[in-house]
Amino acid sequence: MEKTYLTIAKIIFEPVIMVNDSMADGTGWKRFALKTKKTEVDTVKSFYFESKESPMYFVPGQHVIMRFHDLEGDQRGKMRHFSISTSPLEGKYIGITTTVDPNGSPFKKKLDSIKVDEDVDILGPVGNFTFESKIWNDRNIVLIAGGIGITPFRSMIRYALSTSGNFRIHLFYSSKSGKEFIFRDEIDKMAATDKRLRIFYTSTGETASGTPNTHSGRIDADFITTNVEDLVNSFFYICGPPRIVEEIAGTVRSGLGVEKDRIKIEQFLGY
Ligand SMILES: Cc1cc2nc3c(=O)[nH]c(=O)nc-3n(C[C@H](O)[C@H](O)[C@H](O)COP(=O)(O)OP(=O)(O)OC[C@H]3O[C@@H](n4cnc5c(N)ncnc54)[C@H](O)[C@@H]3O)c2cc1C
Repeated sequence: MEKTYLTIAKIIFEPVIMVNDSMADGTGWKRFALKTKKTEVDTVKSFYFESKESPMYFVPGQHVIMRFHDLEGDQRGKMRHFSISTSPLEGKYIGITTTVDPNGSPFKKKLDSIKVDEDVDILGPVGNFTFESKIWNDRNIVLIAGGIGITPFRSMIRYALSTSGNFRIHLFYSSKSGKEFIFRDEIDKMAATDKRLRIFYTSTGETASGTPNTHSGRIDADFITTNVEDLVNSFFYICGPPRIVEEIAGTVRSGLGVEKDRIKIEQFLGY
């Protein structure tokens, strides 16, 4: 009995990476079937897939690579990287969340056209932009998302709040419009029920509204220092389109004087 508890505790506090335990075609690609599709805001949708082989175990924050074998005419090729937006505790599903714009690429049009139970090829999980209990415990964790860069943070936050870890998460979330905060209702609910999560929204366009922590303009040094106590003991994660990530990482390093080894970044190449 004790062994079982230890195993469960280990899974809960230290998710294990088991990459490609079933090498379907000798290259690590696995077949997944689309199970649900959901519009989050405007042109952003989530797609939930279930493995047709062994389940995929991942650490919150990791990403997968998706491929459409038969895709033609996309200048950027048949593959895209997507952070996993679901938490490992959401069962057998792997969720990704992305923009599907009417002016979008052939890849996105193909993704949006697939039907429930249709297959896609997925490789992964990969990446070290991850939740790590040894980093998070007894710390301020500052998560900074530029727009779609919220995706790995949804996974990390949902997972982290399900543990008994002693951390304090400050989520800074910027969007072009106050109406475009993906996962906003869900994140607000998590913050309302768990004091370890505090959220700071900012909109670079139309003003955000609805919570006390809304601001206008870019995420800058002042915005962070006003809201994060004990910066010296804080660990930073920054995610989003490359231009935004570079700008914010520069601010955190030069403006706030945070050492490189206390910053993790994930750049969504392609935006
Ligand atoms: C580690 C990693 C993780 C990532 N995670 C995610 C993730 O979780 N979610 C995510 O969405 N992306 C993620 N990305 C980026 C992803 O891989 C794609 O590069 C990105 O979604 C853009 O996809 P796309 O090239 O199909 O272009 P699209 O999404 O179709 O378009 C990108 C932009 O170009 C514009 N555009 C495209 N085609 C046209 C056109 N013909 N005319 C005018 N405008 C056009 C669109 O309006 C849009 O603004 C990640 C990348 C990396 C490296």
